[in-house]
Amino acid sequence: MKLALLLVSIDPSIGGVMVFGDRGTGKSTAVRALAGLLPPMKVVTGCLYGCDPAASGSWCDACRAKYKDGHAPKAHASPVPMVDLPLGATEDRLVGALDLERALTSGEKAFEPGLLARAHRGFLYVDEVNLLEDHLVDLLLDAAATGENVVEREGVSVRHPARFVLVGSGNPEEGELRPQLLDRFGLAVDVRTPESIALRIDVIKRRDAFDRDPTTFLAHWAKVDAKVRRSLEKARARLDTVSVPDAVLERAATLCSQLGTDGLRGELTLLRTSRALAAFEGDDVVTTEHVRRIAAMALRHRLRRNVLDDADSTTRVERAVSDLWGATKDVA
Ligand SMILES: [Zn+2]
Repeated sequence: MKLALLLVSIDPSIGGVMVFGDRGTGKSTAVRALAGLLPPMKVVTGCLYGCDPAASGSWCDACRAKYKDGHAPKAHASPVPMVDLPLGATEDRLVGALDLERALTSGEKAFEPGLLARAHRGFLYVDEVNLLEDHLVDLLLDAAATGENVVEREGVSVRHPARFVLVGSGNPEEGELRPQLLDRFGLAVDVRTPESIALRIDVIKRRDAFDRDPTTFLAHWAKVDAKVRRSLEKARARLDTVSVPDAVLERAATLCSQLGTDGLRGELTLLRTSRALAAFEGDDVVTTEHVRRIAAMALRHRLRRNVLDDADSTTRVERAVSDLWGATKDVA
């Protein structure tokens, strides 16, 4: 899960992360910790949506109108947002509320931004996404895919940028996820309660230390955090220069074809995720080894059910990888 989160924050175009697994395994803590690690972002002062002063192409209508003469907006630094979507949230809470009466009588748009606006340029975490109402899930996925939120009420419409990394969690035993929903997450990972006694003890000790004295705990880990932050910044800067040889793409496509994934989202995700991994590790060229390491998280949720094969999806991906590339030497 940590690797998946790091990779999508290096290249958000990979898409969101779906986390399967048990409750109480620190999923939301991990997302919150990652948002805290990321360097603060510059936002246009006074903008309701936290527009990026350097990206005028993606500004909201208000920023566009205000700075159309070309003078640079005032900006300040702000932490990367990490927004929790509670299960009982209403549609208005998610997309924002439009006060029609005020809009019609005074002519001004009376729009109260929702959680999608707050998550812009950050993370939106949805615990138990499989229990969320279908129409809310659709709204979420539409916004995540288009990078904007459109609210329309009786002829009045408001649109604003909403580019965020969607992180969903869910326990498949408590409600099936629609396949068309799953396919729209870039990566999928499994988080299980640790079986190793030593690891369990380590986790509860750290948790207890944090609860007793958060300041000392954070100071103790500050160096490690700073190191991860630097690696992330370097990886983002390097991403555009990492090349992907055709031979590696061919292997990615062969793997998807072997597994029978629908459409081409599988290949695209393999390409982007392995490139982000190479950037993260300081490599200039993507190799089969990079693809191999992220194959399960990029493909496991895109497999069709196979009645003749009751192995879980991670095992099926890993088996296909080793069948195809087990004994072959790297092509790049
Ligand atoms: Zn704006």
